[in-house]
Amino acid sequence: MLVKEAITHGKVSLGNTKMPGSTFAICAFACITGGKLAKVKGSVCEQCNMRRLQKIRPCVDQGYKKNLFKWQVSNSSNWIAAMVFQIKRYAVDGYHRWFDSGDLQ
Ligand code: SF4
Repeated sequence: MLVKEAITHGKVSLGNTKMPGSTFAICAFACITGGKLAKVKGSVCEQCNMRRLQKIRPCVDQGYKKNLFKWQVSNSSNWIAAMVFQIKRYAVDGYHRWFDSGDLQ
């Protein structure tokens, strides 16, 4: 698989400098459990940094929404192969974090 082919299913990132390894992020406004918790006063999700980041950085917002959309329209075995390919390629220190933005769909 080539990188350009893999990222058509969603992009694994090395851009989160707060943690080692690679990450995979989706739109925080699509969080299923987080969307419920965002309405609960005092919860972590009520003060979600990723939702705030999406509001102030349009390019981040677009990237997270693209990852969500690509997952939704991908054939699941192609999506898995694309994620495995990217994680193996980028997570050279052995770390990968799912959903540094977003939650389990
Ligand atoms: S991204 Fe995390 S903190 Fe933000 S709403 Fe979703 S689950 Fe909650």
